[in-house]
Amino acid sequence: MIPYGRQTIDEDDIKAVVDVLRSDWLTTGPKVDEFEQAVANYVGAKYAVAVANGTAALHAAMYALGIKPGDEVIVSPMTFAATANCVVYQGGTPVFADVDPDTLLIDPKKVEEKINLKTKAIIAVDYAGQPCDYDTLKNITEKHGLFLVADACHSLGASYKGRTIGSNLADLSVFSFHPVKHITTGEGGMITTDNESLAERMRKFRNHGITMDHRQRDAQGSWFYEMVNLGYNYRMTDFQCALGISQLRKLMSWLEKRQNIAQKYDETFAEIKGIEPLALKANIRHAYHLYVVRVDKSNTGIHRDVLFRELRSRGIGVNVHYIPVHMHPFYRNRYRIVAGLCPIAEKAYDQIISLPMFPGLSDEQLAFVIGEIKRIRSYK
Ligand SMILES: *Cc1c(COP(=O)(O)O)cnc(C)c1O
Repeated sequence: MIPYGRQTIDEDDIKAVVDVLRSDWLTTGPKVDEFEQAVANYVGAKYAVAVANGTAALHAAMYALGIKPGDEVIVSPMTFAATANCVVYQGGTPVFADVDPDTLLIDPKKVEEKINLKTKAIIAVDYAGQPCDYDTLKNITEKHGLFLVADACHSLGASYKGRTIGSNLADLSVFSFHPVKHITTGEGGMITTDNESLAERMRKFRNHGITMDHRQRDAQGSWFYEMVNLGYNYRMTDFQCALGISQLRKLMSWLEKRQNIAQKYDETFAEIKGIEPLALKANIRHAYHLYVVRVDKSNTGIHRDVLFRELRSRGIGVNVHYIPVHMHPFYRNRYRIVAGLCPIAEKAYDQIISLPMFPGLSDEQLAFVIGEIKRIRSYK
């Protein structure tokens, strides 16, 4: 089966992990600082905080912003459930604002309609790896005194008007290092920010709310520490961070591979009626975490589900990203949500399919995927 996404692990990655396993520090050692510095430098942020996974990173972001019961946070429905779950962890209420029909990115006009006195923040998702409309979103958050959080789990390496995602386009930017993402540490996550006090709050949060970590105490020759807030154990290990450092060195070349694959798909779908890639905005660099097309049944005669089954039966591991978050039973039941809350996301969900997209996808595999799509399209 050709998967839709997959990690690339080279010998130098393996060596980096093994070296740490032979060292004194397995967790919260020098590799954590080094990985944080490397990511902060890469994205152009002052601070980076490494945590156990992207979901913990989102949770830390909501905690740092002080989200609490009674608060509302506006989120995109076209995302993984964790984007909204992090609001619920803090007792807040996620409020879903519909997406733009062409890009499936959160629509700033819909965001503004949802703002009220309870609204505290907006979480924008760079869906598939394409940056949201940050200038417009930032204008909205500044006008209303809100925080802007970028769920950038799809967009490491992307840029908006020449500014790298993870820089101060948003107050906090959240990344994941799950194996399907751009670089992997097995499990891992990071938050980048230019705000020192938010970074400090998240550093304590990932370590039970304790003032100093083990290594800092050692360095000061002291046993003393205090727990000042309620936190969690959301730490990342040193061997994961070593893997992350090694992976990050290859990010640029992997992004180029993703872009080359996208270009071949784009050329293909320019000639196939009824199977449309998502629209590309001007002035952005797309990181292509996903390559998503919409299948228009009225034009192709094929429903997305048919294309999905046909491709899967040929060993092509396509996927659907995503069931709109508000349609999951948890959200429907808890917030009494019915279909129609976000009609554009719901309609798109019926049509979208994610095609194989990862740096290790070979030319032969790509040609096979494209050939099979053409065949299925023409005999229906
Ligand atoms: C992967 C992902 C997450 C969660 O990351 P984990 O590291 O798996 O916890 C959150 N949001 C989006 C948009 C993602 O793609």
